Amino acid sequence: MNILRPATVPHSNHWTGAKPPLLRFLDRCHSDFSAETRGAVADYIPELGKANPDQFGISLATMDGHVYEVGDTRIPFTIQSMSKPFVFALALDTLGAARVERAIGVEPSGDPFNSIRLNAENHPFNPMVNAGAIACTGLIHEAKGADAFDYIRKALGRFAGREIDVDQAVYASESATGDRNRAIGYLLRNSGVIKDNVSEVLDVYFRQCSIQVTARDAAVMAATLANRGVNPVTGEAVMTPYAITRTLSVMTSSGMYDYAGEWTYRVGIPAKSGVGGGILAALPARLGLGSYSPRLDKHGNSVRGVKVCEALSSHYDLHMLNRSDNARSSIIADYTIGKIPSRRSRRPHEQTILSAHHQDVRVFELVGTLSLANVDYVARQLAAEPRPQFVIFDLRRVASITRAGARLLAEEFRELAQFRITVILSGIKRSSADWKAIGEWTEGISNLRNFYLLDTAIEWAEDQVVYRHGGAIDFLETADLSEQPLLAGLTGQELSDLAAIGSIRTYRAGEKIISSGDAATSLFFLRSGVVHVTLPDGIRLATLTAGMAFGETALLEPHRSADVFADMAATAYEVPIRDFEHYRQQHPSASERILRNLAQLLADRLAVANAKVNLLTAG
Ligand code: GLN
Repeated sequence: MNILRPATVPHSNHWTGAKPPLLRFLDRCHSDFSAETRGAVADYIPELGKANPDQFGISLATMDGHVYEVGDTRIPFTIQSMSKPFVFALALDTLGAARVERAIGVEPSGDPFNSIRLNAENHPFNPMVNAGAIACTGLIHEAKGADAFDYIRKALGRFAGREIDVDQAVYASESATGDRNRAIGYLLRNSGVIKDNVSEVLDVYFRQCSIQVTARDAAVMAATLANRGVNPVTGEAVMTPYAITRTLSVMTSSGMYDYAGEWTYRVGIPAKSGVGGGILAALPARLGLGSYSPRLDKHGNSVRGVKVCEALSSHYDLHMLNRSDNARSSIIADYTIGKIPSRRSRRPHEQTILSAHHQDVRVFELVGTLSLANVDYVARQLAAEPRPQFVIFDLRRVASITRAGARLLAEEFRELAQFRITVILSGIKRSSADWKAIGEWTEGISNLRNFYLLDTAIEWAEDQVVYRHGGAIDFLETADLSEQPLLAGLTGQELSDLAAIGSIRTYRAGEKIISSGDAATSLFFLRSGVVHVTLPDGIRLATLTAGMAFGETALLEPHRSADVFADMAATAYEVPIRDFEHYRQQHPSASERILRNLAQLLADRLAVANAKVNLLTAG
């Protein structure tokens, strides 16, 4: 079975013209460090000594599953100690953390990888040195018996995203010369860490170390560690986040053996090396790096691989302890309905209530990632007086919510609930992952509501404010022409003459009243019911109730620019434009009033639109 491509094919040259700068950087590392010939190929396992010392491959896998490759990234080499973190993670998930943590420590040993020294309890110092790794393999053997090796091989394959298998020659060579590891095995059995037959456990360990991977595989495996255990190429959840976090911890403190302290200090990216010449480095939430170059330094780490990691970390400032977050950046807009009301046209008594109580409804439009810092900042904005009665969190531009952010957000909802403040979420579907993330902690919070559209959420909150302050919202009541803001100031005679040229129309719920693009041949005065105005692409512009006009831009434009639908059974006066022109000639002062009113209504709409644009583009 050879699913690997021929060794010398350059894998990065399918870019025509401009290359992604990260690939260009890796190219440069490859050409710069190819000149580095210090170090020696490991030959304590004789078969390893046959490796071509000049081979050099660098691969980097991103969190969206792209894999960059430069040089010999498809040349198979044996995984060796790079298997240790994955088998440790596997042991945690297979046997449970308590069992594994009882048997194997997590302190750096300060010793070389093959040290025979155990800690004060006669247990291995950590799972990254041979003693700890052999103990891990022993635990898997305890759980899986004769199937242990295949169980490990398959798990490592899920990290790599493909079937992987053993290099038989290296396995035979390692087994033939592995007495030091056997000695460690017997010592571990003597202290009760290994319970099974030592030679069976060691056989699994030797085969595990002899699994063939490529630099590309190493990058994908590292990226899976960096991605909380989800392989970013295959999408498979390979291990639990608990196991992954603990694995990265021991990689940080012990992954590079007796160079680990220096490594964490200088490079600051959890990593693991193997005497086969591989290094993998996993920067959480950012990238996985895999390199292959068989010349090793005195610690057993690939010389060029170390250089690549150092260069990557320093060039892009990637040390894992070098991070910041702008807490204020997630609020794109923060306003009350005084500034930006819903698109529902309100009748005068509703408008009066809403103006007086506009601070009762506060809207936060959030953006980007919601982290602990961002959510805390939002929560503090809400702790200040005056406290609203309704808070709308619009999440439609939120790209992700961290675990901490989700938990803190849920705690904030609970806090608001204590003050009888209703929390409304918009821009998020109940089926979404973000909803689930928050939902885990919002169990039992009663006044939590969800409307997909922000405008619907604002409209609902406004209705509640109107109700609470005694205003009726009666969709069934009828309004005659005298209540139309567009006709404000007209005399009784002028109104009844206008009524005479209109006819009453009735519409069923859902009926389309106006179609965008049609000739605008009449205007409408809604008498009862509710209609909404929508752009052809589905954006709702306004919700209108009895007493409002629609299609009134027929006075200005020859064609309809939006659709109008009846939300419920509705009635309207329809006035044909041709008759209306005649009416205007007969009633010049009414005509002037109507055009003034129209100008005022359009100006009001524009003011709201401008306020919104301002909020979204300022600062
Ligand atoms: N199989 C090797 C050994 O046990 C692994 C050591 C390593 O890669 N550092 O000696």
